Amino acid sequence: MTQQLMTLSDRISYLTPVGPTDRPILMSVSGDRHTLMIDGGNSKAHAELFLEKLKDEGKPLPDLTAVTHWHWDHSFGLAALSIPSIASEDTKKAMKELINFSWDDAALDERVASGVEIQFCADAIREEFKEHRDIKVVLPSITFKDELTVDLGGVTCVLKQVGSDHAKDSTVVYVKEEKLLFLGDVTAPLMYAPVWHFTAEETLKLLDQLDQFDADTYVISHYKPISKAEYQQEAALLRKAAALVTEHRGDLDQMKTGLSTFYNRPLIEDEIDILIYFANGVPEKA
Ligand SMILES: [Zn+2]
Repeated sequence: MTQQLMTLSDRISYLTPVGPTDRPILMSVSGDRHTLMIDGGNSKAHAELFLEKLKDEGKPLPDLTAVTHWHWDHSFGLAALSIPSIASEDTKKAMKELINFSWDDAALDERVASGVEIQFCADAIREEFKEHRDIKVVLPSITFKDELTVDLGGVTCVLKQVGSDHAKDSTVVYVKEEKLLFLGDVTAPLMYAPVWHFTAEETLKLLDQLDQFDADTYVISHYKPISKAEYQQEAALLRKAAALVTEHRGDLDQMKTGLSTFYNRPLIEDEIDILIYFANGVPEKA
């Protein structure tokens, strides 16, 4: 597990993600007066590693942090931070639900069995907190409804709650002067469900909102920053899949044929997965 601090520009650095422990990207955006950290991290160790790396490289340390959504891997690191944290009211509300949970193996198993937790996250939590499962849910200190602008001094960050299938409270962060849109997990399916899924309605609503931002770089939390061209390709695939699921009422074989005809080539695995998530999202199947 080697996590690296990457430099995107004079203003922006980020810590690379980790698969097995589900650590998402942590990013710092520095203006002339303030530095904003994007996402709290999945643990105290994760957030502390980020601060340590910034310090080692002589980068400004964050004096504010923003949480993209309530999921544990984006929020549990707040416990390590003494700086104010910002999130949507919906994120705070969802995080409140976690406060009284126990995180030992038995409690995790019980919540997986009752459908409150999912196996994917329970496994990653066990992997991240191998020795001390010292989890403390710390709530965001500043909340907003819909949208909030943070002026870092010459750099403006717009926090916009866009929702998504993945999490209703999902917020994206638009760094205006850098033309960067931090997407968090919004392009991922709903995972807290019996089957992972996308719905056509939420997907189209989300993509329309993301189109309002003029960006050259898009950051996907569990992947990496991607170019505008790569983003547009992904967005076009999601739009096409949303159209196909509606047209074929969730018939996966017909959707596959439709997408393959559209691209005029055989489909790759990622494309088939996306079609499966859309087919799973059709009401009688979800
Ligand atoms: Zn998430």
